[in-house]
Amino acid sequence: MTDIKTLDLEQLLNLVYQMKWEKYRAIQIYQWLWQKNVESFDQMTNLSKTIRAQLAERFYISRLKLAQIQTGNDGTIKFTLELEDQNLIESVLIIEQNRRTICVSTQVGCALGCRFCATARMGFIRNLRWHEIVEQIQAIINYTGISPTNIVFMGMGEPFMNIEEVFKAIVAINSDYGLRIGARRITVSTAGIPEGIKKLAALPIQVRLAISLNATTDSLRSKLMPINIKYPLNHLLAAAREYIIATGRRLTFEYVLLDGVNNLTADAERLIRMLRNIPCKINLIPFNSFPGADFSTPHPDKVSKFAQLLYPHLPAVTIRKSRGSQVLAGCGQLASRFQNCHRQ
Ligand code: SF4
Repeated sequence: MTDIKTLDLEQLLNLVYQMKWEKYRAIQIYQWLWQKNVESFDQMTNLSKTIRAQLAERFYISRLKLAQIQTGNDGTIKFTLELEDQNLIESVLIIEQNRRTICVSTQVGCALGCRFCATARMGFIRNLRWHEIVEQIQAIINYTGISPTNIVFMGMGEPFMNIEEVFKAIVAINSDYGLRIGARRITVSTAGIPEGIKKLAALPIQVRLAISLNATTDSLRSKLMPINIKYPLNHLLAAAREYIIATGRRLTFEYVLLDGVNNLTADAERLIRMLRNIPCKINLIPFNSFPGADFSTPHPDKVSKFAQLLYPHLPAVTIRKSRGSQVLAGCGQLASRFQNCHRQ
């Protein structure tokens, strides 16, 4: 038996062609799966009983299992979800005024080894398939009844190390027959893979890009984010500039503030020089600590001092409010604490 959710719209069109059903049946099946999130073929009531029976003979409909839910006192909810192979991933729902953001994972664990990130300590286990990425959103909608306004690819894993599946997931999230979330409300965050940035710029769906920067010298960035050894800052910033020229879109640089490590006056000065001519937003993220972390969170006064140093020169500076850190759902804290992962 095959999980029908592994078939994208093109594959469903092939299926209905082979089965000699009308072409529009593919769209109907896709809508039942991704918009209406049905659990059985019997619920696909605009398909004939014969078609439903034929589908049920060959396919089943997968669903992520809810392993744990933790709610923080700021209302952020972290979901631990079990995949079919029993690996666990985490996704987060963040509610702020009119914005309901779901943060999805793209890999089980991560190979990039960023030192401020709990996921890195799991190592890399496997890539998620596109449907497993989209099903995280469905699981949260199912459980909470809340429809997201925004999707961020900022959970476990580096999206550009799983780019094909991430792009297929974006199609389903954005599609009129799928989750119908506007491209500008979808953000992909990368640790800095220039090739991935180029491919995202060429994607017809105009999603947003965030780059996790976190340091202003190659020596520090390579220590914090080993991917910088392969793709140093000049490569990364060149890719960022190309992205802006190709898309006409501004991007966001995320900067996790690690006390005494990258939040000194000299860091702010270098950041200004580095980003002054790049149309971008800078999102300062006070480090979200986790058990065994090597860094500490700067005092809020130090965070605002750093922002004030940047502000006159780089006006689009925001400080991200720490959300979900109490339940280890903040940025860089996702790590499936009660791991049951099957390493390959
Ligand atoms: S910060 Fe992102 S890219 Fe770096 S180790 Fe964590 S999950 Fe991977």
